[in-house]
Amino acid sequence: MERSVYMDHSATTPMRCEAVDAMLPYFQERFGNASSVHAFGRQAREAMDDAREKVASLIGAQPGEIIFTGGGTESDNLAVASAAHAYHEKGKHVIILAIEHHAVLNTSAALQKVGFEVTELPVDEHGLADPEWLRALLRPDTALVSVMMANNEVGVIEPITELAAVARGAGAVFHTDAVQAAGKVPVDVNELGVDLLTLSAHKFHGPKGVGVLYRRKGVRLHPIIRGGHHEGNMRPGTENVAGIVGLAVALEMACLEMPKEAERLGRLRDRLQDGIIDRIPDVRVNGDPEKRLPHMVNVSIQGVEGEAMLLTLDARGIAASSGSACTSGTLEPSHVLTAMGIPPEVAHGSLRFSLGRMNTTEDVDYVIEVLPSVVERLRDMSPTYNRAKQ
Ligand code: PLP
Repeated sequence: MERSVYMDHSATTPMRCEAVDAMLPYFQERFGNASSVHAFGRQAREAMDDAREKVASLIGAQPGEIIFTGGGTESDNLAVASAAHAYHEKGKHVIILAIEHHAVLNTSAALQKVGFEVTELPVDEHGLADPEWLRALLRPDTALVSVMMANNEVGVIEPITELAAVARGAGAVFHTDAVQAAGKVPVDVNELGVDLLTLSAHKFHGPKGVGVLYRRKGVRLHPIIRGGHHEGNMRPGTENVAGIVGLAVALEMACLEMPKEAERLGRLRDRLQDGIIDRIPDVRVNGDPEKRLPHMVNVSIQGVEGEAMLLTLDARGIAASSGSACTSGTLEPSHVLTAMGIPPEVAHGSLRFSLGRMNTTEDVDYVIEVLPSVVERLRDMSPTYNRAKQ
């Protein structure tokens, strides 16, 4: 029987019941504006204060260091654009990791247009940055360094503690995008030694459109949108109280379940990876085999297009994601795989499977059963693959 298998949890996750239940009252009976002085407002303010304390304690921060935002993209924009401007007297040089999410990449591209110089920190063939490479790129005028904690395409976990120490040792502010890492591996701002850190609720079974920017006490930022005095003047706009409540509950549950769940997901991921390698010839696994998130596997399958595989898998009830981004009508190979030195023709055949709470061994076995026949059929139609084999 056909199944429906969602293996795209790095794109987004279904909300967990505990988070939905916690949010519901804040849509109706506790609908107050957290800035209002009356009882309705105070009720909303208290819920936000509780959520702030909870989030802070889960990542080793102080409540006053938590800024609630409209999601990961907004937190990344606030961190990168704002810190670069706030520290421009040190200099107008910014370093970002070559495989950042577009929320950081495009924000730094915008900085370039207003006179900042941006240098990309390269990665090795496994997607890892080397703290010594960062040391070599740092300059007296480097104001900001932004390196993601875990990559969204291949799941590689960067050596943030070491990188942050090098950057901050040179007087630069250090930001990390922990959107993919949170809820999967421990995230502690003091162990990491970062100044700024981004979270997004919908990646750990919380609601969409709400995130966090952790800002270490004393780190200067300017708001990037204009308005009232919300969130310590950093993020104007009436707060998304329900979303903030849901974010805190979802993060708390994810952290609570993390040790067991990471192990379970790691086992499922290995089963999936082994099954793919065993049954499909000419496959390579992308990303560091050890230093990676437990729930994600990215494979390049020679001779087939990622997009074609996705559509065929979708028709069989399997939701995954491809490593190539269809930008403005042209199918560009993923900048992540390209930065890792993977040739475009190999990068084009990439698939990302990202597992989650609801996935079972049966789901994995279904993918292992379906994928080989999908690949075989597409390879039969591929002149390049067949020619290469002759
Ligand atoms: N950063 C990373 C690493 C991501 O994977 C994503 C989402 O895919 C984002 C930032 C953006 O987060 P949001 O969807 O909350 O804007």
